Amino acid sequence: MARILVVGAGFMGAGIAQVCAQSGYDVHLMDIDSQALQSALGGMEASLKRLFDKDLLDEPPEAVLERIRLEKSLECSVHVEGVIESVLEIEDLKKEIFRELDRLAPRDIFLATNTSSIPVTRLANETRFPERVLGLHFFGPVPLMGLVEVIKGEKTSESIFKKGVAFVKSIHKTPVKVRGDIPCFVMNRIFSAAFREAVDLVAQGIVTPEDVDAGMKLGYGWTAGPFEIADNAGLDTVALIGRSMKRLGEADLCPRSDLIDRMVQEGRTGRKAGRGFYRYTSAGKRIPAEE
Ligand code: NAD
Repeated sequence: MARILVVGAGFMGAGIAQVCAQSGYDVHLMDIDSQALQSALGGMEASLKRLFDKDLLDEPPEAVLERIRLEKSLECSVHVEGVIESVLEIEDLKKEIFRELDRLAPRDIFLATNTSSIPVTRLANETRFPERVLGLHFFGPVPLMGLVEVIKGEKTSESIFKKGVAFVKSIHKTPVKVRGDIPCFVMNRIFSAAFREAVDLVAQGIVTPEDVDAGMKLGYGWTAGPFEIADNAGLDTVALIGRSMKRLGEADLCPRSDLIDRMVQEGRTGRKAGRGFYRYTSAGKRIPAEE
């Protein structure tokens, strides 16, 4: 089976590594932060156990985990068949990683980014072979969400784009093909427009986050409300994405209020911190913030 490198072992990188290993890939999961690697391992163990207990995993969790190796450097990219970059949403950081991957990785493999907002071409232009760079935009929590946007940069070759689509199918996700390399791609633009309104209405005291979430679920059939989604994603990540969107000229898709930045400053970064728009018990149960 093929070998994949996932760069960045945060909320998304750990989930991507897990689903690749579940589908039989040998996975290298790389992060510069040892603590992040250890939490990723703990998170993957717990997630695989939950899936196994619900009869949603064909083999014991340990068998899946055996296919995942933790790494502290990008050197292992010399012997992989694909790379998925999922570090913080900071363009200069991602560019630096693509320059390094370009130096190390074999010429014929795909180099994918899981960026939420940065056009793929801007990262591809940092490399000597931009035709092998594409976007694979996952949705979190990755083990539970079925969608991956496959984004064709201006220079992505047709064969790498097809390889991306086939790879997504091989990990049992549904690819949505995006052939225009626009900031935030398709799904994030649509979500951001809704989330912008939701945040601004809450910031004005017109409605509570819980009522918005109930409304979107009961009124529009969403399976999770926008504030539940944002808390799961991490409000620090949401804030970074917002900053990136503004830099890319997409301020219209961002909330006008500074509520998210204020919450991040107070340490209310969402589920991982135990508090965000909601509070979370130690068992992970979501409760309204004011209760
Ligand atoms: P996160 O903060 O949970 O994880 C980011 C990880 O990157 C951290 O563990 C950090 O140590 C690591 N990192 C930083 N510099 C690094 C380097 N030089 N080399 C290797 N690792 C490095 O963030 P996240 O939520 O996992 O988001 C990661 C990416 O995925 C971002 O581009 C984000 O926009 C995108 N994304 C996030 C979501 C979401 O719901 N959170 C959804 C889709 C896409």
